[in-house]
Order: sequence, then structure tokens, then C-alpha cells
Amino acid sequence: MAPARIAWRVATVVEVVEETPHARTLVLDVPGWPGHVAGQHVDVRLTAPDGYQAQRSYSIASGPEAPHVALTVARIDDGEVSPYLAGEVAVGDGLELRGPIGGHFTWTAADGGPLLLVAGGSGLVPLMAMLRHRAAAGSGAEARLLLSARTAPDVLYAAELAELAADPALTVTTTLTRSAPDGWGGRRGRVDAAMLDAAAPAPAAMPRTYVCGPTAFVERVADLLVARGHAAGTIHAERFGPTGG
Ligand SMILES: Cc1cc2nc3c(=O)[nH]c(=O)nc-3n(C[C@H](O)[C@H](O)[C@H](O)COP(=O)(O)OP(=O)(O)OC[C@H]3O[C@@H](n4cnc5c(N)ncnc54)[C@H](O)[C@@H]3O)c2cc1C
Repeated sequence: MAPARIAWRVATVVEVVEETPHARTLVLDVPGWPGHVAGQHVDVRLTAPDGYQAQRSYSIASGPEAPHVALTVARIDDGEVSPYLAGEVAVGDGLELRGPIGGHFTWTAADGGPLLLVAGGSGLVPLMAMLRHRAAAGSGAEARLLLSARTAPDVLYAAELAELAADPALTVTTTLTRSAPDGWGGRRGRVDAAMLDAAAPAPAAMPRTYVCGPTAFVERVADLLVARGHAAGTIHAERFGPTGG
């Protein structure tokens, strides 16, 4: 028997947070939301007045403990769906979504650590759900986040990450690929082997590894990790490439 299809629901936008010049968080009230696991995503469907529909996937940014479902959408200027979600949607609007979806790219506190999270741009979103869940659950799992962003203002959730990093069991390493402000104390350039050597646990520690971002970023990082000796089976990958449709 085919699995039951997940129903579309109408969510209401209850808050919009301007995260960076290119990304917004939509906080949604979703009647009947069944709950989710950090790392899962939803499908969002837009319908034009003439009936034309477009749907895209968005990771859930909020942890399972949060009262609402939050999505953080980065605007892709020539995109069909993200400019609307990241620029036009307002509090009170309804949005059709279905979910939660996805079972392989998930982490719960019961899974334990150590954790290695590697994010490219908005690929931070599902990893942030994991870190929020880790904090809310009081997990002491050792966690390392390696975050790649174009510029400092493009770093999502920067203030919250700084607060979370007060936990000595969590290390946040940020690299900027395009330009860095004067006095920048973090790393520069794309994620490479040296950066992974500095930021990641040794392969022998068998970290649960989650890599998320644009397809090329995820493939590059996964290749580097495998070349460094990480077992492919410990690496979970989520590609934010276009889903089409
Ligand atoms: C499981 C999953 C979870 C996702 N979670 C998020 C999320 O939390 N936040 C988020 O902002 N996006 C997320 N995405 C990406 C999202 O689904 C869309 O692909 C993105 O918003 C672009 O949609 P669009 O309709 O604006 O662009 P489209 O009309 O689909 O594409 C327009 C142009 O942009 C290029 N393009 C499309 N997507 C990307 C991309 N991600 N990076 C670089 N170029 C791209 C296309 O090749 C094309 O040239 C996720 C994707 C998947 C598969």
C-alpha cells in the first residue's frame, strides 16, 4: 500500500524577522502541527491568481520545543519562490505547507555526540534547529559548527550563535568567503582541508556529521571529510540545490 500522503495545511505568519540583508525568518502558526525532529523540512506551495502553483522545500529552523514553526528563507534574486517568501510575505498572511518531511538528516539529543555541523550559507537552518534542540534539551553533547558565509552581515542568527557558544562544549568557527570586516578574527576563504583539520573532531571520534548548503558546497565538504578519513556512513548531507516543480 502506498504511504499516506502528508496533508497540505494553511499556516499563518505570526512574525517576520529580518535576519540579514538577504534572508528572513517566517514564524508560523500551523494548526494541527504534529511536531518535528530537528533537521526536517517542509514543502511550501504558492498559488498564483491564475492557478499556477510552485512549491519548494524549506528546512525548519525552530527546535521541536518551540511553540511555532520557523522557516528562514534566503532570497535568490532570479528565483521564483524565495523572493516572495523572503521579501513580500507579511504577518497575517496564510501559507500552504506540508510536513514535517525527511528522516535521514535529523538529530535528537538522545543520539548524542560528538556532533560536527558544517553549513554553507542558509544551510545553517536545519543545523540551527539541532543546536536549538541541543540547548533546550540540556544536552552536553560536544558540538562543533563550521559555518561558511559570504560576508559578516550574511551570517544568520549571529547573536544567538554567540550566546550558544558560551557553552564550552560548543565551538563555532566562521569563515567568510567574499570579504571580511576590519579586525575580523575568524577564518577567510572557502572550507578546505586545513579548516576541517582545525575545526572538526578527529575521524577516530566518529562524529555524527551533518553538512548542509548548496549542492557544490555539500559535495566538496563531504569529499574533504572522506579524504580526511571520516567514514562515509557518519556523514549526513542535505543539498539545497533547486528542487524544481
Ligand atoms: C530539503 C531542502 C531544504 C531547503 N531548505 C532551505 C532553507 O531552509 N532556506 C532556504 O533559503 N532555502 C532552502 N532550500 C532551497 C529552496 O528549496 C529553494 O531552492 C530556494 O529557495 C530557491 O527557490 P526559488 O524558487 O527562489 O529559485 P528557483 O526559481 O528554483 O531558481 C532560480 C535560480 O536560482 C538557482 N538556485 C535555486 N536554488 C538555489 C540555491 N539554494 N542556491 C543557489 N542557487 C540556487 C537556480 O539554479 C536558478 O538559477 C532547501 C532545499 C531543499 C531541497
